[in-house]
Amino acid sequence: MSLEFSEELSAPLVSPSYAALDAGEVGLRPKLLSDYTGQEKAKGNLSVYIEAARRRNEPLDHTLLYGPPGLGKTTLAGVIANEMGVNIRITSGPAIEKPGDLAALLTNLNPGDILFIDEIHRLNRAVEEILYPAMEDFAIDIIVGKGPSANSIRLDLPKFTLVGATTRAGQLSAPLRDRFGVSLRLELYTPEELSRIVTRSATILGMEIDPRGAMEIASRSRGTPRIANRFLRRVRDFAQVMGDGVITREAADLALQRLEVDALGLDAIDRRMLTAIIEHYGGGPVGLETLAATIGEEAITLEDVYEPYLMQLGFLTRTPRGRCVTSAAYGHLHIPCGDQASFQV
Ligand code: ADP
Repeated sequence: MSLEFSEELSAPLVSPSYAALDAGEVGLRPKLLSDYTGQEKAKGNLSVYIEAARRRNEPLDHTLLYGPPGLGKTTLAGVIANEMGVNIRITSGPAIEKPGDLAALLTNLNPGDILFIDEIHRLNRAVEEILYPAMEDFAIDIIVGKGPSANSIRLDLPKFTLVGATTRAGQLSAPLRDRFGVSLRLELYTPEELSRIVTRSATILGMEIDPRGAMEIASRSRGTPRIANRFLRRVRDFAQVMGDGVITREAADLALQRLEVDALGLDAIDRRMLTAIIEHYGGGPVGLETLAATIGEEAITLEDVYEPYLMQLGFLTRTPRGRCVTSAAYGHLHIPCGDQASFQV
């Protein structure tokens, strides 16, 4: 399997997006479905589709993976390639600037190969239109020449599988969405699943970890394996410098406290967000843009990175009039429910 991947992003420690600090994560990626923890529903269906395609000796249907960042979409695409015994080419929506870029990628595929497009909702229109016949008829139409003498030539492609990943399935155009035969939603992981992932990663990295240490990291990782693996590396630093190198519950707690990650995995920005809604907007509702401006963060970051977990915890609700903080969040922040600022929107 050949893997081509490049991505550069700077991100806070709890951001589930890929960042320079995850450079070592490729070695932690499970290679087979049996190593891929959790996501039982998606995995169960996928294993049937893979087995059926293998028996028919055909490529897998085009597959869409969606869900928040860091949950294992890229990993799952690699697992599919391994299980099918084919190569995978990895690219992303914003990296394909022109129709010619996509045509070059498609014409270089071998029969059965997987083309993985991350952030597929960010493909531009002109590029997306090349994808339609490629997905449906395994062919692309290329315009040769200019002006009135321009000619369209149809070029046949090998039968391939497109695996698209997106954090925002709702932003995919209907014609693109309809061309995926399989659509799988990835969910946030439970602490037990994350604890298994952390233990597996520690073994691969040659670290000694006790079950309570793994659980402490797991329950503070916002349901996201990428964050869990990132915390594991930071906890190892503390365990080595301040202890005997073993990842215990105490070492995990000390490290995560130093990183300002609280018992539920909230960081300084989560807390600022909730406190701002309480102190400035009486607990809400407040519009996302207004809230983002109040705390000096990008609205899209709050929406993609912070809100899913806060909503899962039941700390935040989305209403047609804006975001509201729940009484559970007041409790977590130790702010009495009646003790709100007078400022109302
Ligand atoms: P996404 O593409 O959804 O942003 P990735 O596939 O890059 O997420 O996953 C991030 C990291 O989390 C990977 O390096 C991998 O080590 C780990 N990971 C993700 N899902 C799983 C899983 N189900 N089991 C074990 N590790 C996982």
